Amino acid sequence: MTGTCDSCDRVAELFELPGREDKNCSACDSDLSTMILLFEAINDAERLGIETGELECEVTEILFGFLERCGLEPSADRETSS
Ligand SMILES: [Zn+2]
Repeated sequence: MTGTCDSCDRVAELFELPGREDKNCSACDSDLSTMILLFEAINDAERLGIETGELECEVTEILFGFLERCGLEPSADRETSS
């Protein structure tokens, strides 16, 4: 199914995350899925008293890339893979 991504507003093939009503392109969908998994991992780690710094770095990196793609973050002079 093709349409406008709810996150980055690009027209692309859209995917629906389980349990969510918004539809996202493959890039946003995979970023969101990964972030959800990482947040869950961080919650689990915190419950167990495990250091979460590395996971938080990872989730922040993905979040910044996601925001940049969505035009929510002024893009720096940085090479992007898109
Ligand atoms: Zn998108």
